[in-house]
Amino acid sequence: MLLHWLRGREGAMTRLVGRLVGIESSSYDREGVNAVASALAAEWRRRGARIKRLRAAKRGDLLRCELPAGSNAAGQILVLGHMDTVYERGTLARMPFRVAGGRAYGPGTLDMKAGLVIALGAVDALRAQRLAPRRRIVFLWTPDEEIGSQASRAAIEREARRSAAVLVVEPGTGARGKLKTARKGVGEFTLEVKGRAAHAGVNPQDGVNAVHELALQIARVARFGNPRLGITVNADVVEGGTRTNVIAERASARVDVRCARARDIARLTARFRGLRPILPGARLRVSGGIDRPPMERRTTVRLFAVAQTLGREMGLRIEESSTGGGSDGNNTAALGVPTLDGLGAAGAGAHTPGEYIRTRSLVERAALLAALLHTL
Ligand SMILES: [Zn+2]
Repeated sequence: MLLHWLRGREGAMTRLVGRLVGIESSSYDREGVNAVASALAAEWRRRGARIKRLRAAKRGDLLRCELPAGSNAAGQILVLGHMDTVYERGTLARMPFRVAGGRAYGPGTLDMKAGLVIALGAVDALRAQRLAPRRRIVFLWTPDEEIGSQASRAAIEREARRSAAVLVVEPGTGARGKLKTARKGVGEFTLEVKGRAAHAGVNPQDGVNAVHELALQIARVARFGNPRLGITVNADVVEGGTRTNVIAERASARVDVRCARARDIARLTARFRGLRPILPGARLRVSGGIDRPPMERRTTVRLFAVAQTLGREMGLRIEESSTGGGSDGNNTAALGVPTLDGLGAAGAGAHTPGEYIRTRSLVERAALLAALLHTL
């Protein structure tokens, strides 16, 4: 019945996605993110939620919307999502919101303004069907997920610790929107090399080439990767040197590191920290770490099974997937709180000019989320 009721809401939900996409909200655009927060707060207020805005240093606010529990319930469920996007202000002019052929296109449609709308739709459906959530539901909408959630992390973890489960309305995987039951841990290490400048022709013997040292270090860290164990190491940004007749004094690299298993974090970190200079006279500084631990399948699989059963009862096929990308779900899962991710819309092209959602997935995912909120 939830799904049936929601089928009549596809148009309205799509229009609301369009309204939110129309408010540009890059992570660095505090005003934009706050404008999304205000628009969302108005929607939640109309649904009787208790609204709190939490200030975050240098970023937009977090928006916390709480729905009271049903009569005999204890505990809390956390629904998590973000209001920021990867698109700078002005993107909308080149990439306007549009609906065609069962899809809605635009910056942040899939990742993840649709997720914000799905949560509202779920609550509408429960109310229309006179179904109360079993527990108190806290919806936490954050301003900085796309840049690592530094301003939100403490609030996310505080709410997660109080929760029996965390449901993340990030997009699902692929065109069918598979749920995410495993995510790799994500981190970044920075290697900074200091050598000694010298004239490359006159006195090369007095120089220590920082670029050469860095190249040797990169070759070394590349071997830390192990695809079989789900470990990847990629130097993605390198800088160094000044001009061709000067032996490079400085060079640095930023290295993306991912791992599938929490138990590999310590060893990987130790290997990076243990790097020592290779060329005589070179100095090396290593900083950074793996700050989003992996979300391992064993902590999510039971919650997934519940979702799958609820989906089946509504005639929806719910599938699972794993991804190398991190989200706030990594951190809540690391606290030991069962976390199910990818409950947002189905579509494709997140973070690209072709980003879109399938509008029907708004309805289907709202029905699934509603059923989860009613059941958990
Ligand atoms: Zn996202």
